[in-house]
Amino acid sequence: MYQHRDIQGNPIDLAAGKVVCVGRNYLAHIHELKNEVPKSPLLFIKPNTSLTSAQQISFNTADIHYETELALLIAKPMSHVAIADVWQHVWGWGIALDLTKRELQSKLKAKGHPWELAKAFDNSCPISSFTPLTAALDEFEFSLEWDGKVLQQGDIANMITPIPQLLAYASQHFTLMPGDVILTGTPEGVGQVKHQDSFSLKANGTTLHQVCFAIENNG
Ligand code: ZN
Repeated sequence: MYQHRDIQGNPIDLAAGKVVCVGRNYLAHIHELKNEVPKSPLLFIKPNTSLTSAQQISFNTADIHYETELALLIAKPMSHVAIADVWQHVWGWGIALDLTKRELQSKLKAKGHPWELAKAFDNSCPISSFTPLTAALDEFEFSLEWDGKVLQQGDIANMITPIPQLLAYASQHFTLMPGDVILTGTPEGVGQVKHQDSFSLKANGTTLHQVCFAIENNG
């Protein structure tokens, strides 16, 4: 059973809640998937069963793509919170993968169907430990690396909807509860997970989490 942990590995006394995600929050990523720029944040939710800190994860399909994102852990209930008050509700930050069954998502999108089957499956949100927040996060860089190569690099300065506006907006639609997580969108460079890949999730140059995937033969 997944449990939020701090960077020392100690459990954080907040039950794992929902994961509120934003799609299309970095322009270059919108262009690489040939999507339209949304007029307001495009939100969707992964359930708490998507969260995992496991370092080995198996899937029975090869249709698994990575999206690397800054994750924020909520400490206090947030409903209709003002932009200026957002940071005092945040426990800390980590890095997560918003794993996506991209082929399936394309089919669902084409039919106008919800994305849950492609986004909300078990273990679809590998996540690092959390670093406590000491001040507003004004500068933050993160990356995904594999075999010494940088696959994705993100800088929160390039977000279309910045974090305070994003959390305030989300809190108008979904009450955010202690233990909930917000994923703030992926930069460009998304791609397919290949058999046995081992990925490093880095924040400001430091590795926070490593995860290895296995694609089991799905016939
Ligand atoms: Zn995403």
